Amino acid sequence: MKKLVIVGGGFAGLWAALVAAREAAVAGGALEITLVTREPFLTVRPRLYEVFTEAFRAPLAPTLDPLGVRVMLGEVESIDTAAQSLRVKTAAATQTLGYDRLVVATGSVQQALPVPGAAEHGYDIDTYAGAQTFDLALKTRLAALKPAQALHVVVVGGGFTGIELATEMRRRIAAHAGAAVAAAAQISLLERSGTLGPALGAGPAPAVAAAMSATGVTVETGVTVAEIGAESVTLTDGRRLPADLVVITTGLRAQALAASLPGDCDDAGRAVVDAQLRLPAAPTVFVAGDVARAQVDADHLALMSCQHAVPMGKCAGYNAAHDLLGLPMRDYAQPDYVTCLDLGDYGAVFTMGWERAIQQSGAEVKALKQMVNTQWIYPPVGDRAALLAAADIDAPWPPAT
Ligand SMILES: Cc1cc2nc3c(=O)[nH]c(=O)nc-3n(C[C@H](O)[C@H](O)[C@H](O)COP(=O)(O)OP(=O)(O)OC[C@H]3O[C@@H](n4cnc5c(N)ncnc54)[C@H](O)[C@@H]3O)c2cc1C
Repeated sequence: MKKLVIVGGGFAGLWAALVAAREAAVAGGALEITLVTREPFLTVRPRLYEVFTEAFRAPLAPTLDPLGVRVMLGEVESIDTAAQSLRVKTAAATQTLGYDRLVVATGSVQQALPVPGAAEHGYDIDTYAGAQTFDLALKTRLAALKPAQALHVVVVGGGFTGIELATEMRRRIAAHAGAAVAAAAQISLLERSGTLGPALGAGPAPAVAAAMSATGVTVETGVTVAEIGAESVTLTDGRRLPADLVVITTGLRAQALAASLPGDCDDAGRAVVDAQLRLPAAPTVFVAGDVARAQVDADHLALMSCQHAVPMGKCAGYNAAHDLLGLPMRDYAQPDYVTCLDLGDYGAVFTMGWERAIQQSGAEVKALKQMVNTQWIYPPVGDRAALLAAADIDAPWPPAT
């Protein structure tokens, strides 16, 4: 039986497995599909700024077992595209796994902040473990506060994640220590460029500014962090800001395996793929999600977002399966682009198009964001028939659209 191996059980990898399994079932051609990933969960990374909950992880088994996709837990250490094999380190041993087609979907990691003290004193919300560690530290610092003492939290990096985390921070504090302690906390958001959310463009800027004011976040733009200490952040202008906790949200970079693949990478470490998400220098390999540099249309590249990772995963799974089954492949394309940014108690902002023209902002969009985060981005579950229907590449995603 032909072997399809998918590396990475995130949004792209899970959907690649689902769609490949469906295409094999529909074509009546058996494929052996193996998903190699570190944990038996999909981490719902877009929720990691929220008040911490174990629901940030969705188990893979209810989605993949009914479709006969085998999950192998381990770390892929290297890929040999000439030999068509992977080295996988599992709890038991390091082994070699062969493939006929491979989908690489190993996602992204937060860029390191290259300043003294960042590794020792900085927290992140990049992974489930990172978000859990920060939540525990928050709880511990709050428990140690003296009466009338205010907690100082500094968020470094004013992109999407930094904005969502900073505006959510009082809710997170209130969840552990109550509304009064949350109201007294000092929340700061530091951004190196002259504008908050530089990648967001001008459209959402007024709503973001209103949200910062409404949620009591002190914003400093045009500032650069020089050092992070146990109780302070020092800026390159010499100022020292009090900081009980520092969270670093300075952007994402493709996971390192992408750079080891033959062919070109972009500045974010993403492997350059063709219109069918195939690696030009190794045509048995497809790449999807945050590790792929792919055109969504003639003018735009896919972003490191679930919005692009899921359709890319679907397309890569479809093409890898079709290639093995001798069926036609499809080009990846995604004409629509929207953003829905959470802004804490202010609400949220919803934009459409690459210019991010605001459609709605404030409290009324919050319900939409909550629906996206708690329902739409979770993997489908159900019986085999329901999963096969959800795995149709032409089925709308998110499901409610
Ligand atoms: C805090 C935060 C907020 C975000 N908010 C949004 C948002 O609002 N909207 C949005 O669209 N996107 C958002 N994103 C981005 C979104 O989460 C990513 O674009 C998405 O997760 C990418 O999916 P992926 O499948 O490419 O990678 P991932 O979801 O990162 O999955 C990769 C998987 O591969 C596994 N893996 C990696 N390396 C190996 C290896 N060597 N061996 C085995 N397994 C491996 C990982 O453990 C992981 O399970 C956010 C991200 C973060 C961190």
